[in-house]
Amino acid sequence: MELRKISIRQAAETVNSGEVTAEGLIEKTLESCSILNEGLNIFTQIAGIDALEQAKAIDRKIEKGEKLPLAGVPVTVKDDLCYGVLPTGFGSPAFKEFFSPYTATAVERLMDAGAIVVGKTNLDDMSMGSTTASSPDGPTINPWDPERTAGSAGAAAVATGICMLALESDSGGALRQGASHCGVIGLRPTAGQVSRYGLNTFCSSFGQVGVTAISGENVITALEVIAGFDERDASTAVCKERAAGAGTAVDTEGLRIGYPAAAFDHLEPGLREVFEQAREQYSAAGFECIDLELPLLPEALQAYYVISLAESSSNHSRFDGIRFGAVEEAGDLEELYSKSRGSILGREARRRSIFGTHLLSQGSYDLYYRQALRVWNLVRREFAAALGQCDLLMLPAAKTLPGRAAAEADFLDAWTEDLFCAPVSLTGLPSLCLPAGQAGKFPVGLQLIGRPFSEGIMAAVCDRMIREIELFPYGIS
Ligand code: GLN
Repeated sequence: MELRKISIRQAAETVNSGEVTAEGLIEKTLESCSILNEGLNIFTQIAGIDALEQAKAIDRKIEKGEKLPLAGVPVTVKDDLCYGVLPTGFGSPAFKEFFSPYTATAVERLMDAGAIVVGKTNLDDMSMGSTTASSPDGPTINPWDPERTAGSAGAAAVATGICMLALESDSGGALRQGASHCGVIGLRPTAGQVSRYGLNTFCSSFGQVGVTAISGENVITALEVIAGFDERDASTAVCKERAAGAGTAVDTEGLRIGYPAAAFDHLEPGLREVFEQAREQYSAAGFECIDLELPLLPEALQAYYVISLAESSSNHSRFDGIRFGAVEEAGDLEELYSKSRGSILGREARRRSIFGTHLLSQGSYDLYYRQALRVWNLVRREFAAALGQCDLLMLPAAKTLPGRAAAEADFLDAWTEDLFCAPVSLTGLPSLCLPAGQAGKFPVGLQLIGRPFSEGIMAAVCDRMIREIELFPYGIS
């Protein structure tokens, strides 16, 4: 069974019907994971025996007549999501051996539906980045080019076809930029749609749990399983009254897509053409492309960084060697804090904690933090007004092609990469990244942004366009 050629529903069906056992499927998957991990550095941990045990348990349930929506489906989990069976490292060397006492709700729901966690995936220092370049284990390599970073390890796992689904987090674009750089489909759901219980997010206002797969249909299949009210995360209260997911049987005829042409001026040379071509393809497919403006993107990016740096300094204050993280030998309390925090927090996390503490200090708070909150509000209104004129917005996911794996990017350049993703995070709106075209040998993704809970519409448009332009993410063998 070639996983990249079938849908998640079909894979689960073959396991449910007994045609293939979950154990057999996972055994093969684990082999591919080990082989590909050598070159691509996708996993912080491969589950091995634990995954096989899970698979056997699923087979036993199926023998007893149970049918499970994700029976035997191999899934990867980003290593900032707690999973009690394997260490949860958060991208910090200090947590390499940390076993969380509980499992994140989204992981638990996937497992209850029959999915098998085959490994934890690589991430930036405390998830702070969209390249994996600041990971203590080094960057994940892009399956399309061994000299470039993948952007996200989950996206690389899906692009190679070793896994059908990656559960990931996205604060300012990590999931979406990874999908863009690896030529797969990544969904950041509506804020509150998926529980964040068990997610170690550095910025509470913007961190969300999302999924990556090779089709809109697969993404929605997974969303239907993980979405919905969770009493352990109050932000999911918005789901209390609604059925999870929206299904893909959606009429996409005549939808209007907002195209903010001026925003595309920010792209690196050579990429604008990909989106101009995408616009033509969407028009040819019968969508009405509408010109509009989103002038606040640069200010929104700045607001994202001011707010997320402030939140990360406050969220990371608990990593002091006493409550969390390894404690270092020291002569007094101050030395203990500084030595322990110095070894727990990597370079990017230290940088953000220092900036964030400054931003929240007297004098800076009004100047930066309060202003950023105002911008946040304006950005939400700007996107809401834009979505008053159209059904979906089209934006790039990344400003440039994936970075070189060997080069250390300037941190401001890395932050600027989030120009198109971070503003969307401020709005809480759902965003789905799908292939737009190619620049040379590299896939280039676009984001479709919709109204709250319009994931089903975005996924239906995605699958229709993928069929129309024949840009399946199956190019890697
Ligand atoms: N690049 C963004 C940041 O560094 C997004 C990170 C993320 O989504 N995890 O803040």
